[in-house]
Amino acid sequence: MARVERKLRTDELETAQTAPHETCIICGEQQEMGIHIGEKYLCLGCERKIVNTEVENKLYRTYVKKMRQIFFPVRQIKS
Ligand SMILES: [Zn+2]
Repeated sequence: MARVERKLRTDELETAQTAPHETCIICGEQQEMGIHIGEKYLCLGCERKIVNTEVENKLYRTYVKKMRQIFFPVRQIKS
């Protein structure tokens, strides 16, 4: 008996491989590789930059600022 194997359709394969590119919250570019933090998207490049940036570094402060803006968007804090 000849057995007919079911082949993946081309469109199924394409859906699996190419996820819709999302816009990175840091660099603002559409990147294929990245991570989701909540509803936000962070590309792999920026994620690495953050991880590799030293705490004393000015760049780190910039990132932290941006991250704060993302996670705590304009919330009036009474002090
Ligand atoms: Zn990025």
